[in-house]
Amino acid sequence: MTQSVGVIGLGAMGMGMARSLLANGFSVTAFDLAPRAMARAKEAGITAHGAPAGVIEACDVIVLSLPLASHVESTIEAGLAAGAFNSPKIIIDTSTSEAAVSRRLAAKLSEIGHGFLDAPVSGGPQGAASGSLSVMLGGDAQWVAQAKPVLDALASKVIHVGPSGAGNIAKLVNNMLVACHMLTTAEGLRLAEASGLPARDALSVINSATGRSALSEVHFPNWVLTGSFDSGFSAGLMRKDVRLALELARDSGCPMPVSELVAKLWSEESSGIADDQDFMLLGRVAAGTEEKTDG
Ligand code: NAD
Repeated sequence: MTQSVGVIGLGAMGMGMARSLLANGFSVTAFDLAPRAMARAKEAGITAHGAPAGVIEACDVIVLSLPLASHVESTIEAGLAAGAFNSPKIIIDTSTSEAAVSRRLAAKLSEIGHGFLDAPVSGGPQGAASGSLSVMLGGDAQWVAQAKPVLDALASKVIHVGPSGAGNIAKLVNNMLVACHMLTTAEGLRLAEASGLPARDALSVINSATGRSALSEVHFPNWVLTGSFDSGFSAGLMRKDVRLALELARDSGCPMPVSELVAKLWSEESSGIADDQDFMLLGRVAAGTEEKTDG
């Protein structure tokens, strides 16, 4: 098993993952389109490459952390076109991506002796930086076994969900629930406030009772009630997840009336929250959670 791992995409998640790999003794070679991310990588002791194909060629295991499935596909195609798949490779795609794209890439790479795992993650930038993500894997068991040392450096929970695309499906179901919980929890806390019970008091009861979720236990106390709204996950990326979940529902013929309403409420027009703002702003509770301003 190689000690040299590639990382392509060094944003809120990818940079933390690259650092976790370094901390676990791997040497890390990376690429990001943004010069600032590349400069930060070099400062952290990561070898920066000028092109994604260079990273693929230099490493046996390559972790992707990219915004969209189309970025994942174009990165792999660029590697293939450049002849970078010159020895057996495993791609671990941690992007929140699309099952159909993962299946297509896994089939294409498998024909020429390479592995592709859809490996979307949960746990945010904090989990990425501390190597304590949860990873939901789709793909063949042989590639999962070979990727294990790298996965163990990134995550405290590794769940092999099923064949190619299964990780993507699990992630989209999870994140559609996150989007719903965000709005229902905020609505519940608004009801508490409007009825004379402070949101913080209501939340401590909810977290000891059956209405709780990861949102109520982690996100609202840390990033909403503090007014910091800085979880490190953008509203734009969360909107992507909601859109992909609804596309999956449409393709599967599964009615999702509640999720469709949530998607409308999540839109930029309804919420007034721009794509580049933190997604926790969607959970604003009317009273007691003023957004902090600089100074
Ligand atoms: P981000 O916007 O912070 O970072 C994305 C990075 O990818 C940027 O540095 C950008 O310059 C780079 N990039 C874009 N296109 C590229 C390309 N073609 N080649 C190389 N680099 C490219 O995003 P993020 O929050 O780190 O999320 C990355 C992925 O992880 C997304 O798919 C997201 O849905 C998923 N995710 C994010 C979180 C979170 O809490 N932030 C949690 C779970 C999953």
